[in-house]
Amino acid sequence: NVTISSTPSTRPAALLEDLDRRHVLHPHERGHRSQRRVMVRGQGSTVWDASGREFLDALGGGIWVAQVGHGRQELADAAARQISELAHFTSFFEYGTDKSALLAERLTTLAPAGMDRVFFTCSGSEAVDTALKLARLHHHHRGEPDRNWIIARHYGYHGTTYGSGTATGIPNMQVAVGPNLPHVEKVMPPYPYRPEMYGGQGTTEFLLNELSETIERLGAGNIAAMIGEPVLGGGGVIAPPADYWPRVRELLRSHGILLIADEVITGYGRIGSWFDSAPRGMDADIITTAKGLTSGYVPMGAVLMREEIAASVAGGERDFFHGHTYSGHPVAAAVALANLDIIEKESLLARSLAISEWFRTGLAGAAELPSVGDVRVEGAMAGIELVADKATREPVTDTLALAVADELYETHGVITRNYGPTLVLSPPLVFERAEAERTTSAITEVLGRLDVASGRIAPR
Ligand code: PMP
Repeated sequence: NVTISSTPSTRPAALLEDLDRRHVLHPHERGHRSQRRVMVRGQGSTVWDASGREFLDALGGGIWVAQVGHGRQELADAAARQISELAHFTSFFEYGTDKSALLAERLTTLAPAGMDRVFFTCSGSEAVDTALKLARLHHHHRGEPDRNWIIARHYGYHGTTYGSGTATGIPNMQVAVGPNLPHVEKVMPPYPYRPEMYGGQGTTEFLLNELSETIERLGAGNIAAMIGEPVLGGGGVIAPPADYWPRVRELLRSHGILLIADEVITGYGRIGSWFDSAPRGMDADIITTAKGLTSGYVPMGAVLMREEIAASVAGGERDFFHGHTYSGHPVAAAVALANLDIIEKESLLARSLAISEWFRTGLAGAAELPSVGDVRVEGAMAGIELVADKATREPVTDTLALAVADELYETHGVITRNYGPTLVLSPPLVFERAEAERTTSAITEVLGRLDVASGRIAPR
């Protein structure tokens, strides 16, 4: 007998939770959990749930997004203006819109040199699928139709469509979905905290040998591309040694294999520059992006590529048979342009480096705790890998890491999440020092109560 108002935020929280539980199948739904967290409002780095409780969003919309923070009127205005001018028109064939052309040009000025063409998608997964197809098509049209293999990496996260999902190397994600995309091979990524994975050799040395052997086994003339994130995101915020990407790049180039940098997380300022692949020495042929492009206000992804790749798949007598109804959506493009303006005007690239320092300082105490194996801070993101035994580096169970994230949520109102044993931070780039300090002291406080031997968090 509840009266339902037409404004969702004024509906009783319990009713909304119930509707959600009964009718929504969530992305990555956790089968064993019946609780629901229904968010209704956001401002800056703060969000409010349906019961009115306030939370600090240390994870950027809960999922590495929200570069410019929540509730930006400029982005609402840009969307409203565009909807009244022209809400949508296709970019298929020779059609397009003013906003998609302007955004494409803008991205090429921000991107590493040579990235002169842009293909728009609605998500990161679509961007990755597009990149995989582009790589194969490029070789096919150049007269090397056997170059079909894609090399991806264990622990990499590239999405959950069939193509991007096959390239993803997170355990569990390929269980029982039937045959995946054929011709995808995985190699190890760097994981400096776990040198035992590299058989006592230097990390890069081991990985270069493994990659060389893989190329030899598959046959260089059968390989289209390798895909990798500059810094592993969903794999646990793991940065490579400085010589890794330059040497991988050189090896791939010597075999005519393209390199796809997946910057869906690292793009648009997350690690102090517009794109992280260039400073890491990737010199990519194709860059996939999404998330921070619009700060998540509307869905949009963008694939940036060298001119010769675009020219090989469309040009002369050749047509390109690939595209989405909403590719280059003008509302998304207008929001993206306004979003990039804010990132520039408010110097959010520099801010991400300040956040980095605040996290480093704030997590120094936590790093000494028996449950913390490794603290990895890369720009405005951090991974805190939890261990059951600091000496052997045996990881905690995923369940225990999830309990830590839950405790932060319940007792401190701080939103983080775990990826396996690693607790992850990726806040809006407007995060303030006090918010960073609140996050790191909450983490230190909760981890101080974590007893790995019993697998319990003591009450506060
Ligand atoms: N690539 C990377 C590196 C990602 O982190 C993600 C999503 N977290 C994706 C691709 C997939 O993006 P989406 O969820 O928008 O499909």
